[in-house]
Amino acid sequence: MVSVQQAEEIIQSVPAVVRPETVPLNHAVNRVLAEEVTADRDLPPFNRVAMDGFAVDSRGFSPGKRYTVAGMQAAGDDPLLLAHPDTCIEIMTGAVLPGGADAVIPYEWGTANETTFTPHPHITITPWMNVHRKGTDARQGEAILATGTVISPAEVAVLASVGKASVNVYAFPATALVSTGNELVPVQARPLAHQIRQSNTPALQAAMATMGWKVDLFHFKDDYNHLYTSIENLLGQYDVLIVTGGVSKGKFDYLPQVLEKLKVKKLFHSVAQKPGKPFWYGHRPDGKVVFALPGNPVSAHLCFYRYIRPWILRSMKVTVPGVQAMLASEVRFEPPLTYFLQVQIRTEQGVLRAFPVAGHGSGDFINLKNVHGFLELPANQNEFKSGEAYTFIPFRTPF
Ligand code: AMP
Ligand code: MG
Repeated sequence: MVSVQQAEEIIQSVPAVVRPETVPLNHAVNRVLAEEVTADRDLPPFNRVAMDGFAVDSRGFSPGKRYTVAGMQAAGDDPLLLAHPDTCIEIMTGAVLPGGADAVIPYEWGTANETTFTPHPHITITPWMNVHRKGTDARQGEAILATGTVISPAEVAVLASVGKASVNVYAFPATALVSTGNELVPVQARPLAHQIRQSNTPALQAAMATMGWKVDLFHFKDDYNHLYTSIENLLGQYDVLIVTGGVSKGKFDYLPQVLEKLKVKKLFHSVAQKPGKPFWYGHRPDGKVVFALPGNPVSAHLCFYRYIRPWILRSMKVTVPGVQAMLASEVRFEPPLTYFLQVQIRTEQGVLRAFPVAGHGSGDFINLKNVHGFLELPANQNEFKSGEAYTFIPFRTPF
């Protein structure tokens, strides 16, 4: 048995093979940037007027001055020239600041008619007032997004502004998601009394889809020969196998045997954690990676968020900042295992407070609907006091 930290290190020591692929910008959200993006021009690309009003030369200003309106310039117009400091140009937000002008006085700061603009007598103006100056946000050629950036709507705006109609992002390894178990029937089936509908692979597929990770789904019966030939086949076609069920100590839990027979080297079987203790992990010299998660739905869920998601993100050079939350009531947990406590988060005075939500064990996935994530309570303690902070593993947004 390995500790949670050891399991994590073993998994992270073999990064996923991720190659760049090009996607259209409108498919890039939540994907990870596989290139450094630079500004193709200064941002803003010109002295951008930031208020509707009148462009003036601040050096010619004096209180009570009346300007003659020499022209009008909308956003998108070629810039006019301010020829004389006693004149002004009526100007709109988004327009280029006219040559000779260095400030914009908003409409609300004065009185205008057809031909003149008179600022209120009490106002003062400063150079570059209400002007978003060329190149202040980024210089042409400057790196503005790093490789390993998770693309949010904010990055989509940045990418759009520098003309990236298509973006290089990391492609996910070819992945098969496999459920095992004779008791399981497809979601659309009507189960017999002794059967249950399969829920792990739909849940994991959904978790992966939020990152843009597409998978193919398979289901195999608990039959050694069937499992052997099916897994052998998948290892030929996919880089990563994520399997649920069939790795415990049951008579029909053939998966560890099958995998070893197929030369997938076991790197651990059993992690000192609850839930998810029977977790099996291994890889083959040809680079194939197998995560064999326990079938209990809460265990499979936890193992994905605690191990697989960080593994793929790290392989894509993403830095995950990590979150802590403060335990809101005392918890006792005797066994020398890391305990992943199911919690609901409430923010109180700026602090994330984690409230334990008791369920009926690792088979009770119905309980997860009341839960925002897991609080990781370390193995070397058995008393966890209210007010202590621990790593929080969210699986829900917003939480
Ligand atoms: P196992 O790890 O195969 O012993 O399965 C442990 C428990 O999880 C059993 O009660 C299984 O019925 C259940 N289980 C296994 N796989 C799934 C699945 N794909 N969906 C829902 N429950 C599952
Ligand atoms: Mg099973």
